[in-house]
Amino acid sequence: MTLVLNDIILTYPDGDRRLTALDQVSLTVGAGEFIAVVGPSGSGKSSLLAVAATLLTPDSGQVVIAGEEAAALNDRQRTALRRDKVGIVFQQSNLLASLTAVEQLQAVAHLRGEKPKTALARAEALLASVGLTDGKQHRRPHELSGGERQRVNIARALFADPAVLLVDEPTSALDHERGEQIVGLLAAVTREHGTATVMVTHDKAQLLAADRVLEMGDGRLWETAAAARVRQTS
Ligand code: ADP
Ligand code: MG
Repeated sequence: MTLVLNDIILTYPDGDRRLTALDQVSLTVGAGEFIAVVGPSGSGKSSLLAVAATLLTPDSGQVVIAGEEAAALNDRQRTALRRDKVGIVFQQSNLLASLTAVEQLQAVAHLRGEKPKTALARAEALLASVGLTDGKQHRRPHELSGGERQRVNIARALFADPAVLLVDEPTSALDHERGEQIVGLLAAVTREHGTATVMVTHDKAQLLAADRVLEMGDGRLWETAAAARVRQTS
C-alpha cells in the first residue's frame, strides 16, 4: 500500500483542553487508487491531509508513505520524503502571482535541482496533459480561469512524480460543470501516474469518479454504506 494511516489521533490545543481533530483514523490507499473523503466543514478533512502529508505530526498512530514510516525519519529526511513522494493541491490556490503556468512548474524543478531545459519540456508536456495548451501555459494566474488555475495546481503537484497525491476541496471555487471536469481529471491522472490519491470535499455531488468514498464526521472516518455494498456484491 502506498499510503497507510494507522490509528491516527491528532489533537489541537483548545484553551486549557485539547480538541480531538482526528479520532483513531485508519486509511490505506494503493497505487492508482482514487479515494474521496466527504464530510461537513470542521469534521477533520484538512487535518487528515496535513497528517498524510507529514505537515502535522499526530499525537499517536503511524503514517507510512511509499514504505517509509514518517516518525522514523528526522526532519530533513521527512522534508525530502514530502518533496519527492507527496503532491499536494491545497484548498486555496497558492500559485505565485508573478509566474506563468510553466514557470510555476519550473520553480518546483529548480528546488529539486533539475536542469532548466529538461524541466521546461516536462512542464509543457504535463500542462498539455491537463488541458493547458494554446498559449495558456504562458499565462499568469490572474489571466487564467479558476478551473484553469486548478489544472496548473494539479500539474504542479504531479511534477515531482509523487507516489501520493493529496487534494483539498478542489472544486469549492468552481461551478458544477467545471468541478466535475476537475474531479474527472484527478481520476484520469491517478490512473495515468499511478498515484495513491486522496481527495477531500464537502460536496457529495461529485463522487462518482472515485474508487471508494469514505465519510468523515467529528474526526472519525468510516466507509459509506454504498461503498460497503459494492464490495459485498463484487
Ligand atoms: P475540515 O477541513 O473538515 O473543515 P479541519 O481539519 O480544518 O476540518 O478542522 C477540524 C477541527 O479542528 C475543527 O474543529 C477546527 O476548528 C479544528 N482546527 C483545525 N485546525 C486547527 C488549529 N490549527 N488549531 C486549533 N484547532 C484547529
Ligand atoms: Mg478543510
